[in-house]
Amino acid sequence: MSQTRTKLPDPKSIHTIVFDFDGVFTDNKVYLDSQGSEFVRCDRADGLGIDLLKRYAVSAGITQELLILSTEKNPIVAFRARKLGLDCHQAIGDKLGFLRQHLEKKQTEKKAEAEDPFKRLIYLGNDLNDLPVIEAAGFSVAPSDAHPLVKKQASVVMEQTGGNGFVRAFVEEFLSVNRLSLGGLYELVSDRGNRN
Ligand SMILES: [Mg+2]
Repeated sequence: MSQTRTKLPDPKSIHTIVFDFDGVFTDNKVYLDSQGSEFVRCDRADGLGIDLLKRYAVSAGITQELLILSTEKNPIVAFRARKLGLDCHQAIGDKLGFLRQHLEKKQTEKKAEAEDPFKRLIYLGNDLNDLPVIEAAGFSVAPSDAHPLVKKQASVVMEQTGGNGFVRAFVEEFLSVNRLSLGGLYELVSDRGNRN
């Protein structure tokens, strides 16, 4: 359940879902050892959430691009993205500029009808550097421990915090998982192997 009453958009209407990494897939903390190695903590529940999104797109016959955009450049992000099977772009100082270019290129390649490329995009982010994209995105989602200004601007604020099932909760609400039949649910979760 989300904290706000705003309804998430119809999944079939969305062509792109963009995830910030720190504070979305993690609790925004970094653990350091004496050698300077960094560790973060992710939530396995989010892995199944990403699988649900992908399987839903296949079963609905739609193309939905899923990608991680991170300001930081850290091999941990690339590693987690690979495990989740998500495209990942790092060291992106200007997320809005990057996305604008990326989406316009995609629009040109697909010869898609001219519309605001952000209109059917969902962005999930937690901090001030996400605000420009949150403002541009047709729909945006924040965890409950996001910066107050992000929570104020986001279309929906979930009850969950970053790295603690936030992504999973978004996916379940987005796909209305609680309204699926058991058969439909099994279809989405079956044969996922042991990836995440
Ligand atoms: Mg962040």
